[in-house]
Amino acid sequence: MDRKQLLIGGEWRDAEGGKTLPVINPATEEVIAEIGAASKSDVDAAVAAARAALTGPWGKLSARERGRLIWRVGEKLVEQIDQVARLETLHNGKPITESRHIEIPMAAECLQYFAGWADKIHGETVPVKGNALVYTTREPLGVVAAIVPWNFPLLLAMWKVAPALAAGNTVILKPASQTPLTALAFGQIALEAGLPPGVLNVITGSGASVGQALVEHPGIDKIAFTGDTSTGRGVMRTAAETLKHITLELGGKSPNIVFPDADLDAALRGATIGIFYGKGEVCAAGSRLLVDKSIKDQFLAKVAERTKKMVPGDPLDPKTRLGAISSKAQLERVLNYVEIAKKEGASLVAGGSRADIGTGKGYFMQPTVFADVKPDMTIAREEIFGPVLAAIEFADVDEAIARANDSMYGLAAGVWTRDVKKAHYVASRLQAGTVWVNTYNVYDTAASFGGYKQSGFGREMGQHALDYYTQLKTVWVDLG
Ligand code: NAD
Repeated sequence: MDRKQLLIGGEWRDAEGGKTLPVINPATEEVIAEIGAASKSDVDAAVAAARAALTGPWGKLSARERGRLIWRVGEKLVEQIDQVARLETLHNGKPITESRHIEIPMAAECLQYFAGWADKIHGETVPVKGNALVYTTREPLGVVAAIVPWNFPLLLAMWKVAPALAAGNTVILKPASQTPLTALAFGQIALEAGLPPGVLNVITGSGASVGQALVEHPGIDKIAFTGDTSTGRGVMRTAAETLKHITLELGGKSPNIVFPDADLDAALRGATIGIFYGKGEVCAAGSRLLVDKSIKDQFLAKVAERTKKMVPGDPLDPKTRLGAISSKAQLERVLNYVEIAKKEGASLVAGGSRADIGTGKGYFMQPTVFADVKPDMTIAREEIFGPVLAAIEFADVDEAIARANDSMYGLAAGVWTRDVKKAHYVASRLQAGTVWVNTYNVYDTAASFGGYKQSGFGREMGQHALDYYTQLKTVWVDLG
């Protein structure tokens, strides 16, 4: 079994006092590694290293050299893609096909996309009254703490690390304690690629201690957080004490709307991929399926039929499309929602139970579909973060929009129709940071992503992400 250390100032070291935490493979229930349980003094050391790196060799690099270095980190990640993808699957339980062919390639692409931005971040000259030259520059914020959840451990880390580095900041990365292995592997990759010491630090431990200590620390300038909405509220409250910059990417309860004029075969695929990709542990999962009542019965029958054919399997098997739920606690939470849905009167039409892949071990669950869900039921309102679909009917376009927007969340939405006018009309009225038309769960490093309402604020990926890692300086030069 692997014993992992913290990466601080370019060196690997034990957490203070040698404290550790176990990492569990959710597909086998075995402990696969021990990681350092960092303390407040480790956080202090990481902050000191990240601050020193701001003015060290990193701060002296030209923007183009910085970009080249970030590109090289991306290349090194590609070189080690098989090992990193395997680690992602081992600690998270997702199918190796998803890790190897989707998540880790996207993580490398994210680094290389933002590497290209490093020397394209610039200010403007401003026409003012009087005889003066006024120009703006965009400067890094300083030290960024990136706090990430367990569902896409490396990808969500890169959504923060890549733009932060491109803009010239230094970073302390804190992965979720359940899924720290790829962040630690990435720390080594960055060192090997030549990132100067202290530019990227990786510290592990629980959110309540290490995460909290980062958010409180006066030496940190920005918190880039992805996680649960309630944790995000706490992060915002704590960060207010030191008036840190923050971006929050939080939960969702995204509607996937199927109109009767849609290509129903495509909508069927979109409805199931929308919820079951990533075992439903996807912030933008299309967990509310809104279906026009004229096609509801036939459409849901097909959704149920397709769902029953999806069986969880060994995440390391390349044929597996549905892996293990990330942890025992998460499996129990999801199964509890199934019980609540039954009690509140929703009709279970597929799945609903824990699954066994033949080993008698692992946190597997059958993909699950509920029909006859009413908009005020718990499973229509709360984020389950698991493979559970709640189908709700609507009578017309305006009711579909009203039901879609009837949520405290606003992360993403899907619209299925062949009518171009209707597609744009609905897209313009949906309160969501991303709207997918005749597709679902597609992402590109160039396309910004983030929430409306209580799904958070700030944007990741795309050019707009850079706005959240720089600050604007205005310089006045008297020419009189
Ligand atoms: P979580 O909020 O429990 O944990 C997220 C991270 O925050 C972890 O690293 C954790 O250790 C840390 N943390 C916990 N308590 C903290 C505290 N008091 N101070 C600072 N850090 C703390 O969330 P999770 O269960 O790991 O992740 C699932 C959630 O993430 C879901 O709600 C999901 O919707 C959300 N998510 C959102 C997006 C998005 O882009 N909007 C993407 C993926 C996941």
